[in-house]
Amino acid sequence: MAATWDKRSARQLRSLQDELARNQVRAVAGSSAYWKQRFADIGRAPSSIDSVDALAAVPAVGERDVSPTGDPAAMARLVLQGGERQFALHTSGPKLRRALRLRLTRSAGYRRIVESEIKPTSYVWAGLGFRYPIASTRGDLDAVTRAGARLWRVLGLTEQDALLSAVAVAATPEHTALQLAALAVGAPALFPGEALDAVTAAARLAPPTVLAVPTLTAGEVVRALGAADALGRLTTLLLVGAPTADERAAAVTTLRDADVTTAAVLGVHAPSGARVLWAECRESGGSTGLHTYPDLDIVQVVDADTGEPGPDAGGELVVTQLGLRGSALLRWRTGDLVAAVDTTPCPACSRNVARVVGTARQALVVATGSGRPIDVRTLTGALAGRADVQDWRVVIGGRARDGHGQVVVHLVTSGDPGEVSVAAAADIRAVAGRLPTQLVTTDAESLAELTGTALTRRVLLRR
Ligand SMILES: [Zn+2]
Repeated sequence: MAATWDKRSARQLRSLQDELARNQVRAVAGSSAYWKQRFADIGRAPSSIDSVDALAAVPAVGERDVSPTGDPAAMARLVLQGGERQFALHTSGPKLRRALRLRLTRSAGYRRIVESEIKPTSYVWAGLGFRYPIASTRGDLDAVTRAGARLWRVLGLTEQDALLSAVAVAATPEHTALQLAALAVGAPALFPGEALDAVTAAARLAPPTVLAVPTLTAGEVVRALGAADALGRLTTLLLVGAPTADERAAAVTTLRDADVTTAAVLGVHAPSGARVLWAECRESGGSTGLHTYPDLDIVQVVDADTGEPGPDAGGELVVTQLGLRGSALLRWRTGDLVAAVDTTPCPACSRNVARVVGTARQALVVATGSGRPIDVRTLTGALAGRADVQDWRVVIGGRARDGHGQVVVHLVTSGDPGEVSVAAAADIRAVAGRLPTQLVTTDAESLAELTGTALTRRVLLRR
């Protein structure tokens, strides 16, 4: 019997992921306008990507690479345009055999099976610098639903648990994944939206054992429910959006103040572009990272400044979605910075799945004062290749609770400072769609004296 999804040996995992990566690249390269062009541009035959290691050689891309102007319509080029031929080429054995049997009998069931695999039927909206739709087929929704059942187990929940979600009710990956997870396990779930009075009313109607709240608003929701005496059954607080250590500690304190002393605080997270939620396991209490699904995700890390593969410690998280056939995201730059991807079995729950450790969510996209976000990755990409720039730093400052801040670029030039900064500014505007808050030229000494928390080698965060 095949091992369950979280108990495969390292060898089984490698061979499974190599095979799924091969299939995914072939399906994607054959039927998405963007990927067809992309493989031609990088001079790689899709058939040469035959393993997870080979996949790591494909340059990572993000939303600005697919749509340089930030036009959501351009993201449609990621959607697979399948036909029957694509279905036959890229569908797995049992499903294909069942479909072909139905075709022989000219059954309408044949068309249904083909369509469930190739026709985009539903969309969620995501994105960092701009919002864009991500398409799912029926088959994709089935995969997200199965992942939801696993999410529930990782969180240590059962069908007896009752979920109350204070996440906005909208076509987002987070809301959709929570809803499908509860459906998959048959657990009662209420989704009143994010308005505090609606959440409180729902909690009094059906006191939850599990409360899901956006990480940023966890405090106010917990306080409101505590004041309404609606937390008596609570065993689990889910922080939706990978919490920082400070946010986690604040949630624990708020629960304690509300006289809830036994509930676990666990993070769940869908990186930008993802359709499934990853969870921290209950056994770890949140200390061993987000547990991924080896048959749905390949998680890798790139240098956040350049997008190049393979820094030793930490970098930007890059995701390849396996088996999903609506919008196809290969080597997708998520904008999340992570400390590491750990592929050893979880020391707490012993699941053998890759774990994403130390996530700083969406750290590389900053909403500036005007409210319009700036994608730091495009900015660093524009600076990294310039011969007339010796060295540089990007300082993100004043980033408050709402994420707004300033982005200041410091340049050490090797030519006339005025000319170089004008040229660099023009490049940045061309690829990022806008200018940083400020661009200053300086010397190597002053550059070395800039202070802040190092988000990447050259991007500093100053509170
Ligand atoms: Zn674990």
